[in-house]
Amino acid sequence: MSYRVTLVPGDGIGPEVTEAARKVAAATGIEIEWEVVNAGEAAIAAKGTPLPDEVLDSIRKNRLALKGPITTPIGGGFRSVNVALRQQLDLYASVRPARAIAGEGTRFPETDLVVVREATEGLYSGVEHWVDREHNAAESVNVVTRKASERIIRYAFEYARVHGRKHVTAVHKANILKTTGALFQAVFREVAPRYPEITADERLIDNMCMQLVKKPAEYDVIVTTNLFGDILSDLCAGLAGGLGVAPGALIGESVAVFEPVHGSAPKYAGQDKANPVAEILCVELLLRHLGETEAADRVWRAVWETIAEKKVVTYDLALPGYTERPVPPSSCSAMAREIARKVPLVDLKAPAPRPRASTASSTGDPNLET
Ligand code: NAD
Repeated sequence: MSYRVTLVPGDGIGPEVTEAARKVAAATGIEIEWEVVNAGEAAIAAKGTPLPDEVLDSIRKNRLALKGPITTPIGGGFRSVNVALRQQLDLYASVRPARAIAGEGTRFPETDLVVVREATEGLYSGVEHWVDREHNAAESVNVVTRKASERIIRYAFEYARVHGRKHVTAVHKANILKTTGALFQAVFREVAPRYPEITADERLIDNMCMQLVKKPAEYDVIVTTNLFGDILSDLCAGLAGGLGVAPGALIGESVAVFEPVHGSAPKYAGQDKANPVAEILCVELLLRHLGETEAADRVWRAVWETIAEKKVVTYDLALPGYTERPVPPSSCSAMAREIARKVPLVDLKAPAPRPRASTASSTGDPNLET
């Protein structure tokens, strides 16, 4: 079976890392026809707008997209292509797996969790204003609805079911946010019993941050509102090894867009230097989304083996933290070639590499721990 997928190369390092991801996708043998459309700086130069209609049309038609990062100009200019894409395509779930690869680049080699963030409302609804003319006071409205809460919470449980994950944790601040937090909490308590095979619990956001940096292995799927999810997903990317290895997915009712957590890193643009792993792992997520599990497993293992071997890795993976002794850094394209070379050679019968098992033990009710 062949698939048609929209490809948005993006800005800065985007074209290099998406090219790397295409190379690895091709090595899986899965036929993907890429429909390349430009958003961001290239689109402004060619069409005078950062998000031409053809980008949205292509994604709506193909229902799948692989995207590179897009620069958001500071100050004036357009707001954000990324925000506009989310709104126009109603991409309501931001899904970010945080899996420590080969135990490298992290003090938390056991990290293996997924943050599912509601991405349409909360404090990012855009309902905000200055209270006075002098701009000495401002208000932002935190919009939480039953409909959006139920949609994201159900998505988190369905995700857990499909991906063999066993536990879902809701993160909120219902003790202080007596309406918005309490509504999200109430909906979670309604939805969770519909998935009896998956255990469920809750954490307050402040406590969750502390728990995550003490014992991330105790968490599996985390579901939360927009702002808390934005912060937690970056925190978890850090736990699992950093921006260079953190992929993400934006899920809507009918479309899915896969993009790395990192931005366009303009200072490395055109240098063939950036780490391609986050974008390559977006291909892994795309393949899993398509049900192409074997191909996805091959990509995951090839990335794992390449990082564990530490022979052909980009500059950031060649530094202490990832290696005991610094190794000569390879280029973005060389690392992609190495991962692609390994993809067909992967032994799927061998035990799958996993983040290391935790040695941490639970200490009762974490909400009571300080
Ligand atoms: P950034 O992620 O681009 O860079 C942060 C740091 O990480 C920099 O030092 C950068 O060089 C490094 N880095 C990032 N990705 C890397 C990679 N693959 N390999 C090696 N090093 C890497 O974040 P920023 O500097 O805050 O943002 C730059 C631009 O990207 C901004 O315009 C921002 O709005 C945009 N951005 C876009 C997206 C997106 O398109 N989804 C996400 C985040 C930021």
